[in-house]
Amino acid sequence: MTTASESFAPRRSEPIFGRLAIIGIGLIGSSIAHAAKELNLAGRIVLSDRDEAVRARARELGLGHEIAETAFEAARDADHIILCVPVGACGAVAVEIALALKPGAILSDVGSVKNAVVEAVMPHLPEGVHFVPAHPVAGTENSGPDAGFPSLFLNRWCILTPPEGTDATAIARTRQFWEGMGALVEIMTAQHHDLVLAITSHLPHLIAYNIVGTAEDLAAVTQSEVIKFSAGGFRDFTRIAASDPTMWRDVFLHNKEAVLEMLGRFSEDLSVLTRAIRFGDGETLHKHFTRTRTIRRGIVALGQEKPETEKLRKS
Ligand code: NAP
Repeated sequence: MTTASESFAPRRSEPIFGRLAIIGIGLIGSSIAHAAKELNLAGRIVLSDRDEAVRARARELGLGHEIAETAFEAARDADHIILCVPVGACGAVAVEIALALKPGAILSDVGSVKNAVVEAVMPHLPEGVHFVPAHPVAGTENSGPDAGFPSLFLNRWCILTPPEGTDATAIARTRQFWEGMGALVEIMTAQHHDLVLAITSHLPHLIAYNIVGTAEDLAAVTQSEVIKFSAGGFRDFTRIAASDPTMWRDVFLHNKEAVLEMLGRFSEDLSVLTRAIRFGDGETLHKHFTRTRTIRRGIVALGQEKPETEKLRKS
């Protein structure tokens, strides 16, 4: 980890928020805690998790300044509260902390699905409290308090989906907080977010979960051969398919419409490729693979992925 004098992003002389509360100490919650402390984004950082063992581990790791026993205690008097729990738990946590929220506080979350979170949280939002939902498009396949690191959000997008009529200052301060951690911020509606993420993140995860499951089920390919020859493409899918089961169960249950829409389009396109293979239509296959190669090069050019040669030099 970097020291304060050699931080991965500029350290602020004045914090953005007085008291920051982080509910849920997993990969995302602990990464925010590391970054916010290292970069002085909040004067006091209080974390909480429903799991006692996780709270104990967070204390050992020195995450934030204080570990509270309950979400309510953590949220009391906080200026910025971030729900870092699975999407399906956001509504229940909002109910739990509602009476602890002070007027003017900014409530946020990091859920990978936005519309369902907005619908679950908004009815419990007390008068005078602002809600600015966020989704950092950054992560790894690891979970828990040990998985976090401060530079997780550096040069990664964080999408804010404030409901119509949200206070402009609350949006600006939330933006400032994420930019303070090195993220690039974009604002869109929750509905648009869910559609975009269905194709860029949710569907790829579903395909990875499916292909790894299929390979495991195949009686003709032994377990050891799957592992031995995994560099042929399978290995990249296994990394994605190792992602947290609870988090991903909730993503599919709460972004059902958009995922089903994208899955329908995916199946149609797959039929085109299937036909091309069946009828020996090399031209269709070559054209398709050339188009997809351009997309990959575009992602590298935008700095959202390193070129393969650089990755090889580093490993
Ligand atoms: P994680 O590592 O599994 O951590 C989630 C933590 O929240 C766990 O300690 C969990 O405890 C706790 N929790 C669950 N329900 C709770 C409740 N009702 N009250 C208090 N704590 C509760 O998950 P994560 O990867 O950090 O993901 C958190 C959120 O970030 C999710 O909404 C996810 O969609 C979003 N996100 C994840 C990624 C990623 O790549 N991982 C990227 C962007 C956004 P238990 O273990 O006891 O359930």
